[in-house]
Amino acid sequence: MSTIAQQHTSTFSAQDLELKLKQVRLAHPEQSLPSPPFSDSGSTSPKENQTEESYFLRSLKECLAIYEEPSRSRSESLSLLSDEEVIMLANNGNIATYALEKLFGMEKLERAVRIRRAIISRGSSTGTLESSSIPFENYDYSRVLGACCENVVGYIPIPLGVAGPLTVDGKQYPIPMATAEGTLVASASRGCKALNAGGGVTTVLVGDGMTRGPAIDFPSAIQAGKAKAWIDSDDGHKVLREAFESTSRFAKLKSLKTAIAGRTLYVRFATTTGDAMGMNMISKGTEKALEAMQKRFPEMVVLALSGNYCTDKKPAAINWIEGRGKSVVAEAVVPGHVVKTVLKTTVKDLCNLNVKKNLMGSAMAGSIGGFNAHAANILTAIFLATGQDPAQNVESSMCMTLMEPTGSNGEDLLVSVTMPCIEVGTVGGGTVLAPQQGVLDMLGIRGAHPQQPGQNAQTLARIIASAVLAGELSLLSALSAGHLIKAHMAHNRSQANTPAASLPPTPGAGLAYRV
Ligand code: ADP
Repeated sequence: MSTIAQQHTSTFSAQDLELKLKQVRLAHPEQSLPSPPFSDSGSTSPKENQTEESYFLRSLKECLAIYEEPSRSRSESLSLLSDEEVIMLANNGNIATYALEKLFGMEKLERAVRIRRAIISRGSSTGTLESSSIPFENYDYSRVLGACCENVVGYIPIPLGVAGPLTVDGKQYPIPMATAEGTLVASASRGCKALNAGGGVTTVLVGDGMTRGPAIDFPSAIQAGKAKAWIDSDDGHKVLREAFESTSRFAKLKSLKTAIAGRTLYVRFATTTGDAMGMNMISKGTEKALEAMQKRFPEMVVLALSGNYCTDKKPAAINWIEGRGKSVVAEAVVPGHVVKTVLKTTVKDLCNLNVKKNLMGSAMAGSIGGFNAHAANILTAIFLATGQDPAQNVESSMCMTLMEPTGSNGEDLLVSVTMPCIEVGTVGGGTVLAPQQGVLDMLGIRGAHPQQPGQNAQTLARIIASAVLAGELSLLSALSAGHLIKAHMAHNRSQANTPAASLPPTPGAGLAYRV
C-alpha cells in the first residue's frame, strides 16, 4: 500500500510525465501539442515531419547535437532538452552527474537535483529514490551549491521543537532543538522551568579559541627540536603570529603549543575566529604561518595541515584539558522547594547520584570529558537546529556536571556544567541555510555581530551550555526520582523480619566457602 506522501506528490517521475503526454498525443492526433522546445536553425532543428517518438525522446545523436551546439551556452542547450533526454545523455557519459548544477546554471538548480535523483534512482538496485518521500522541491539550493553539500538529491527534514524559554544571563531564550528523540524536548523544558524558578542560569566564558595542529616532518629529531625551540621563542612566535593574522581581520593568534614525537613536530595554533566556528579561517592562517616558517626551516615538510593535534571531531584529552572553541561554565541555584515540586526529588539524592554516576561512574569507565548524563543529547539537537557541524559534537559535548547543596542549611541546589569545547559559529557553514538562519534569528544571534565580532557565536555557546544544564538537571532528577520510587516500594515492604546475614558480607569470601 502506498503511503499518503507517495500518493500525494511523488509517484510522477519525469519519465511518467513524458509517457502520459505521448499517450495523449497518440490518442488525439487532431489536438496540437506544444512545439518541440527548440527553434534554432541549422542542423539541430527538428525536421518538419518529425515523428512522435523523436519529439518525446529524441535519439542520442540528436540530443548530443543539441547539447553540444557551439553557438549556445550549455545551460541554454540543456533548456531545450527534456529531463529524459538529459538523463539519457548523463547515462551515456556525456554529462557528469556531479556537475549538473554548474551546467544548468543558478536558475535551474531544482531541475538539476530532480534529474540527479532520477539518474541515481534508476541506477540503484532498489530504484526508490526518484519516487521516495525524501523532499527536494522548494529549497534554496543556491545556498548549498559550493558551500554545504555535493551531489544533492534533496534534504532531510528533522522535527524542530522548542524547550524553555530559559533565562540565560538575565535574558529569556527559546531553546531550539532538532531531534527525533521523543521526550528530549519535554525533559529539557522541565529543566528550564526548574532553573528559571531560581532566577535562571549565569554563564562564564572562560576561553575562546579554535585550534589547528599540523604535523611537520624534519630530517632528524635534532632539527625538529630546533624548530620547536624557535616557535617557543618570542622571535618565532612573532613571525608566525604576523603571518597568521595577515589572513583575516578576525583571526587573532592566542597561543602556540608544540610537541615532538621522533622527528615529527606538532604545533597547535589557537585563534579567535569572530562569529565563525573557524575551521576554514584557522586553516588559512596556519597555512600562511607555515609558509613563513618554511623560509626559516627549508628542510621541513608539512605532512598535513591537520596532524590530529587539533583535535577535530575525535575524542582527545588535549581538548578536554586545553579547551577548543568556546569554553563555558553555566551555573544556577535551584531552590530546595523547586527540587521537590518540579523535579520530584531531593537535593541530597541529586547530589549523591551526580557523584556516583557522573563523576565516579565515568571515572570507573575511564572517560575523558564524559562526566555528565547526556550533554550530547541537548547539544546535538541545538547544533542541528542552528546549522552547526554535527560531527563536532564529539568534543563539543565534553562536559562535567557538578551538584552540591547550598543555602544556609544546604536546602538548595548549586548546579553547574563545565564545557571546555563548544565549537559553534553564527556565520559560515550550515548557518548560511535559510531554515537554520530562521532559528538563529529567533535567538537574535544570526550572522556577524554588528559591533563586537564574536559575540553572537559566544552567546550561542552560552545558550547551549545553559540548555545542557537544563537537560542534566532534568535527567538526573528523573533517575533520582525513579530511584526514590523504588526505594519507597522497597521500604514499604517491611524489612523488619529479614533474617540477619548468615554469611560474611564480602562476596569473595562468602563465595569461597559456599562452593
Ligand atoms: P569557518 O571558518 O567557520 O569555516 P567560513 O570560512 O565559512 O567559516 O566563514 C567565515 C567567513 O565569514 C570569513 O571569510 C570571514 O571573513 C567572514 N566574516 C564576516 N563577518 C564575520 C564575523 N563577525 N566573524 C567571523 N567571520 C566573519
